[in-house]
Amino acid sequence: MFPKKTDYDLVIVGGGLSGLAAAVAAGEKHLTTLVLEKGRTLGGDGNYVEGAMGVDSAMQKEAGITIDKTQLLQDELNYSHYEASAPHLKKLIDASGATIDWLQSLGVSFTKVGPQGKSWPTIHTFEGGGHAAIEKLKAKADEFGIEFVTSVSAQRLMQSNGHISGLVIKNEATGQYRELTAPNVLLATGGYVDNPELVKKRTPFVGCLLTVSDGKSTGDGMQLAWAAGAQHYSMGAIQYGGGAIYDRQTPPFVHMMSQLGAAATQEAILWVNERGERFVNEDVNDNMCHAGSAILTQSRVFSIFDQTAVDHLAKVGLYKIVGNSPVSPDTLDKLPEEIEADLGKHAPYLTKADSIDELASKLGLAKLPATLARYNALVGTGADTDFGKNRDYLTAVADGPFYAVELGVGMACALGGIRVNDNNEVLNDYGYAVPRLFAAGNDAAGMLVGDTYAVTLPGSTAGYAAFSGRNAVANM
Ligand SMILES: Cc1cc2nc3c(=O)[nH]c(=O)nc-3n(C[C@H](O)[C@H](O)[C@H](O)COP(=O)(O)OP(=O)(O)OC[C@H]3O[C@@H](n4cnc5c(N)ncnc54)[C@H](O)[C@@H]3O)c2cc1C
Repeated sequence: MFPKKTDYDLVIVGGGLSGLAAAVAAGEKHLTTLVLEKGRTLGGDGNYVEGAMGVDSAMQKEAGITIDKTQLLQDELNYSHYEASAPHLKKLIDASGATIDWLQSLGVSFTKVGPQGKSWPTIHTFEGGGHAAIEKLKAKADEFGIEFVTSVSAQRLMQSNGHISGLVIKNEATGQYRELTAPNVLLATGGYVDNPELVKKRTPFVGCLLTVSDGKSTGDGMQLAWAAGAQHYSMGAIQYGGGAIYDRQTPPFVHMMSQLGAAATQEAILWVNERGERFVNEDVNDNMCHAGSAILTQSRVFSIFDQTAVDHLAKVGLYKIVGNSPVSPDTLDKLPEEIEADLGKHAPYLTKADSIDELASKLGLAKLPATLARYNALVGTGADTDFGKNRDYLTAVADGPFYAVELGVGMACALGGIRVNDNNEVLNDYGYAVPRLFAAGNDAAGMLVGDTYAVTLPGSTAGYAAFSGRNAVANM
């Protein structure tokens, strides 16, 4: 359904996490505001978010968590090879605790705050997941009388004398177009992870990249901005979710809660490439983004484990804390039945064999027997002198039957494409604002990263979505 009116103080393009945060902020500021959402439902990938970043939040203060903000800024700048914008990152860090407190004041609840894997203790976990937070923000925006329309997309920005003056929208159900007048437009479309052509600009390995997004993050915001004169800016970072079961037949989200996936990607007993050679210390998966990058250095990757590992994981428990996986029980008790079910339906990503020679021959991994002999010898000495995996995670692969799971790389979101200033105004090639055009969330989050998303600062994209939506409105 088209909006009720044709002119607004502010039109927000995208009803995800950043768009909803902006909508509430606009309500607080009494702006007549319309939120356009191209999907049939609100929330975007914000619905799946686990937690949001904050520094010096009330929760952290209560938990006695202190963070040296200068050190944090330095660490993130170094991690990004100084491709991140120091002032923008500083502004986010300084405001992030207050942003979490603001969300709480709106009724959003968090269960805990702490680190994720080896990281700063910044991630505030949403009670009920991101979807619960989205519902709270929507309810608050409704109280302010913010208008929402779904199945309506932004197609083109209109300009008058260089200023943004409105936009052309499309009813996705009927195919009809309409023009809206608005002196302020905020792009909050969630980045470009679901646009393979744009992803290809970041990495040529699109084949084994598996998006776990809702499919709507197709880079619309950046393309609208570019057409209005915005700079094509650093499409640097993809938020890799580490290894993921590489299933060519089923969408990636089907495996998100799979215990086989956790065994193959998070336990990471032994990873080999298309020749059957080891190529990395598998405990790189403590940082899911690094793990994704490492997997992408190879043409194909297989996670190899034996029956002893399956029995151990199922009955005794994890060898390694499953840091970044939603699957974090003490034991992977469903692993044997998941394996049987997958073998029963001849899942192409899972191979079982009685011997290593048979596994190598089934998969064409010529060097696998030699790799295994070498790896088990290293396990015997307790030191991975090849790649330096922590000795606690050196687990032998010796007792058949043996299993191989093919891995791809999960992707949650892609950042970059639009450059903004500290007011979240979109900038042109010369560094000047495209007047009245703002961007928030993943559309603008390329400002915070270099070539690799920084899970060292966990919850940063969700924290940025809330901060930047609010920040943009504060500066209108
Ligand atoms: C499975 C998963 C888990 C995640 N977990 C975390 C986490 O724990 N912590 C974290 O920090 N980040 C996480 N993320 C990253 C997440 O993308 C962001 O934190 C957050 O959703 C970004 O908010 P956003 O508003 O930019 O995008 P979104 O929340 O995705 O919202 C964008 C919205 O814009 C709409 N849209 C797009 N184009 C148009 C158009 N042309 N017209 C109208 N509407 C349009 C989309 O349909 C969508 O609803 C996760 C992502 C995924 C996929």
